[in-house]
Amino acid sequence: MVTGGSGLVGSALRHISGLELKHQYVFASSRDCDLTDYDSTLRYLREVAPGAVIHLAAAVGGLFKNMRRKADMFETNVRINMNVLRACHELGVAKVVSCLSTCIFPDEKTKTGQINETMLHAGPPHASNEGYAYAKRMLEVQSRCYREQHGRNYVCVIPTNIYGPHDNFHLDDAHVIPALIHKCYLAKQQGVPLVVAGSGAPLRQFIYSRDLALLLIWTLEHYDATNGDDPSTCAAGSLILSVDPADEISIAQVVRHIADAIGFDNDIVYDTAQADGQPKKTADNAKFKRLYGTESPFAFTSICRGIQETVQWFVQNYQDARK
Ligand code: NAP
Ligand code: GDP
Repeated sequence: MVTGGSGLVGSALRHISGLELKHQYVFASSRDCDLTDYDSTLRYLREVAPGAVIHLAAAVGGLFKNMRRKADMFETNVRINMNVLRACHELGVAKVVSCLSTCIFPDEKTKTGQINETMLHAGPPHASNEGYAYAKRMLEVQSRCYREQHGRNYVCVIPTNIYGPHDNFHLDDAHVIPALIHKCYLAKQQGVPLVVAGSGAPLRQFIYSRDLALLLIWTLEHYDATNGDDPSTCAAGSLILSVDPADEISIAQVVRHIADAIGFDNDIVYDTAQADGQPKKTADNAKFKRLYGTESPFAFTSICRGIQETVQWFVQNYQDARK
């Protein structure tokens, strides 16, 4: 079963599950079950009786939503995670793969080098997203506690900034790529400049949702919390899923890719009165590469192609897209 089955990553998993897969997948959205309510969660999971769960459901948003709605991001995510893991345990679900994010790492660690799985709790997160970050950190703690106390195989993946078809393209609440695709699309139609929030200087690693979907299935089938790390630490059951640090790009480069994919020739203006968020949060993907193997390494979709496919999807699905 996939919680958050109607979202960006859930839709990518649906896309992949149309291909040949070993298992049968059930995709749940908030219409099937409100995961903030424990009784509904338990009832729904009992009905589906999954052998394993990929837990994606969450209150999600970009920098500006995280800054504006800290209490909502904290409470909703704590509730959802508490209910999903507890119900899974109660019903004897053997494996749960839950989703964290590289934006929850200690701010100080992002300034001094690359972040890795051992550092998750080694200092406070960036102030802009502390509600979301602390809720997500507790999901790692909860998964680890279930492993230690009950022997459950509950693990967490840590993706970087994700984008792709079926994203949320809301102008104020979305992450940078979908928000700017929507803004650029409207600026082209209206013949006005594209206004980008912040300086364009911050650096980010981006992962295409369909790449992440393949890696989630790989994680479900191949990644357990027994890979040489001390089982009592956060590193043991956590895995960063990311492109290489060398593939980190600036927001200004992202803007260029979006403008090219949309065919946008008007001016581009950087509104430096708006927040930049973290200057960088370079994620070290060495653990993933070691476990995935070097013989036939995972081929990540280039940012150029991923943005082209996302723009194409947005333009073709403009009426129905989340925005
Ligand atoms: P998304 O597109 O916003 O989708 C969120 C999903 O959660 C939807 O299917 C939504 O269902 C479901 N959901 C929300 N509240 C719910 C509730 N109360 N009960 C049941 N379902 C509920 O999110 P996403 O971008 O795919 O993110 C997937 C996971 O990756 C999340 O855990 C997120 O924290 C993590 N992540 C995301 C990013 C990113 O850049 N997007 C980066 C790192 C990590 P409805 O459609 O019915 O509302
Ligand atoms: P983050 O990667 O967790 O910080 O989240 P985002 O995906 O929201 O990316 C935020 C970065 O993109 C910041 O440097 C913003 O200043 C920049 N940015 C530029 N324009 C936009 C926009 O329209 N929306 C968002 N969310 N960020 C933007």
